[in-house]
Amino acid sequence: MGAVNTVPSATAGLAAWYAAGGRHVLPWRRTRDPWAVLVSEVMLQQTPVARVLSRWSRFLERWPTPESCAAASLDEVLREWDGLGYPRRAAALWCSATMIAAGGWPSDETGLRSLPGVGPYTARALLCLAFDRPGAPARDVNLGRVAARCYLGVETAPGARLDAALETHRPASMSWRDYTLALFDVGALLCRRRSAACERCPLAPGCASRARLADGVEAPPRKQAPYPGSMRQLRGAILRAMLARPDQSVAALERAVAALPAAARPGAVVEALAALRREGLVTA
Ligand code: SF4
Repeated sequence: MGAVNTVPSATAGLAAWYAAGGRHVLPWRRTRDPWAVLVSEVMLQQTPVARVLSRWSRFLERWPTPESCAAASLDEVLREWDGLGYPRRAAALWCSATMIAAGGWPSDETGLRSLPGVGPYTARALLCLAFDRPGAPARDVNLGRVAARCYLGVETAPGARLDAALETHRPASMSWRDYTLALFDVGALLCRRRSAACERCPLAPGCASRARLADGVEAPPRKQAPYPGSMRQLRGAILRAMLARPDQSVAALERAVAALPAAARPGAVVEALAALRREGLVTA
């Protein structure tokens, strides 16, 4: 991807806004250590920032390097992960630590994507936020939404179109890292899925969606089922019980989780246990 020589109007005010109003307090922004960045990105995949804040530091105090994490058992990592949800991420992170400890960090996007749990977004986040590589926007859903709205005047667009627009509009004064972080913040604080605070947005002067969204955002329906009463809640409780006492019987497990609504369905505990075994989270 080539260099940008002019400051496009849509992003002319972005650098100043980011300097004054960006979320610089997020601790993972103060490091370029790829392990610390990877842990933050994996945690943030499905856990809100507020909950990740304390857990990220705690995880890194315990395992500051891939080597130290790889030397721990999967059960230890799963116990540390408790409360963050989606424990498959912890298992994948532990597997990645093992691979990095054995062979070092992959040097490109394809290599990074070969690490368990590292998809296109996380690979690009590592390249952009830890390795300072130019020309690889770490485009998550929020950043993609900002780019689609501001640069293209639509709610969604194919990835290649978004990448091209992101490159075209990057101010020459901003590194790819700062540009990406600034757009993350616009997406998190102003240009949200269900609302757009255009009157406070630094992109407003050149935004292609400002007029379109003047009457508000037509919010798409939420997709995820509520956690209470879900099989996900039941699986989490079973995993917690198994990590505390790996040798317990199915009958004992059924008693341990009997208060959960999802456990009332006949066979639900066995089904959840089988799913945990398939995911490699439970071996006993
Ligand atoms: S001006 Fe409004 S629609 Fe455009 S990027 Fe900013 S918040 Fe989003």
